[in-house]
Amino acid sequence: MDVTASALSPRRKTRQISVGSVKVGGDAPISVQSMTTTKTADVEGTLAQIYALAANGADIVRCTCNDRGAAEGLAQIVPRSPVPIVADIHFHVEMALAALEAGVHGLRLNPGNLRKPEEIKLVASEARDRGVPIRIGVNAGSLHPDIYERFGGATPEALVESARIELAYFEEVGFSDVKISVKASSVATMIAAYRLASATFDRPLHLGVTEAGPLPGGLLKGTAGIATLLAEGIGDTLRYSLTADPVEEAKAGRQLLEVLGLRERKGLDLIACPSCGRAEVDVIKVANEAQAALEALNLPIQVAVMGCVVNGPGEARHADLGIAAGKKRGHLFIQGQIIRVVPEDEMVEALVEEAKKIVAEGVAVRLAARDVSAEAEAEADRALLLDDRGADANRANERIAQIRRRTEG
Ligand code: SF4
Repeated sequence: MDVTASALSPRRKTRQISVGSVKVGGDAPISVQSMTTTKTADVEGTLAQIYALAANGADIVRCTCNDRGAAEGLAQIVPRSPVPIVADIHFHVEMALAALEAGVHGLRLNPGNLRKPEEIKLVASEARDRGVPIRIGVNAGSLHPDIYERFGGATPEALVESARIELAYFEEVGFSDVKISVKASSVATMIAAYRLASATFDRPLHLGVTEAGPLPGGLLKGTAGIATLLAEGIGDTLRYSLTADPVEEAKAGRQLLEVLGLRERKGLDLIACPSCGRAEVDVIKVANEAQAALEALNLPIQVAVMGCVVNGPGEARHADLGIAAGKKRGHLFIQGQIIRVVPEDEMVEALVEEAKKIVAEGVAVRLAARDVSAEAEAEADRALLLDDRGADANRANERIAQIRRRTEG
C-alpha cells in the first residue's frame, strides 16, 4: 500500500490564482519554478534555458527584468516560451510596467527593494487591469529597513509583516491576484516564517530557502525547509535556489514532489542499495551507468540496482524492475521475481532493454515472458554466496580454532 501522500498533513486551503496556464493554490497540483541565469536580453540563450527547465520539470520560469534590454527580450521570449514567464523586479517601477507591457504572465516584487507606496499601487493597478498575478517576494536578506529595525532583525514575524503591508497596498487598489513568499537562507527562520504566513494569509505560498548555495549542501537546505512545510500541508508552488545549473533546481523540485507523492511520477526513479561488504559488483558504478542510460530515455519507471542476490531482490521487490549481482552474473527481476540471469558485463544493457519493454508491454506481459529456469539459477547463486560468506562470513570457525590452539598450547 502506498502511504506516502496520506502520511502528510492535509494541504491547507488557499485562494487559487492563475499564472498564465498554470493554476497555483487551492487544489491545483503544487508547481515547480526555477529562474534563468542568462541575460534576458539574450532571447535565444534564455529560451534555450527555459526549454531545458521545462523539460526537467519546471512549470513556471522566472527571468530578471532589470533593464530595457531585458524588457525587450521578454516581449520576444513570452510568446515563444513553453511555460508561463514571471518577471523578477527589484528597484525600478518602470521595469515592472515594461514587463507587463511585454506580456509576462506574472510579476515578482520585492517589498524591500521597491518601497514607495504610490509606485507599488501603480504596479498593482496595472497588473489588475491586465489580469496578471504578482508574487510578494519577501527576502530576509533584503527586508525593508524600517521593518528590520522595528523587529530587531529579519525575524519570521518581520518577514510576514513585510508581506502584510505590501498586501494592504494591493488591496487598497482592489488587487487580489497574489501569492506570497517569505524566504530566508536560515532553514529554521524560513520554516517559522512560512508557518506564520500560512496562519496569517489565505493566499498561495511560494516556498523556498533563499541563497541555499551549491550542491550538495544547497539541495539539503532547500529540501529540509521545503519538505518540512509540504509535510505540514503548507505550500502551493516552490523553487530550489541553488548555485548550480538551474536545471538542477527544476529536477530537484520535481523529484521532491514525486517522492512525497504530491505529483505523479513523470520520469525515472532509480533506487540502489548503499552497497556493503557483500556486494558482488561496484554498485556505485553500475547505478550511475544505469541512471545515465535510463534518464536519457525518460521512462516513468522505478528501477533498483542491488549489490547482491542474497538480499537484493527481496529488499527491492516493490520496484518495477531491478537487477542484483550474483557470482559474475546479474539477476534481473520484476517486482521481486527473477526473470533472467545475464553476464555481469551485460547488466546495465539488460536493465535498459527490459525497462523499455516493461513501459511498452506492461509488467504482466513481461512476467509471463520470463525465463522459467532463471529462478533455479538464481537460487543456486544465492546458495553459493551464502556458503561463501553467509555461513561463516567472519571466519569464525577458523578464529575459534586459532584461539583453542593458543589456549591449549
Ligand atoms: S543488497 Fe546486498 S550488497 Fe546491497 S547493501 Fe544489501 S546486503 Fe549489501
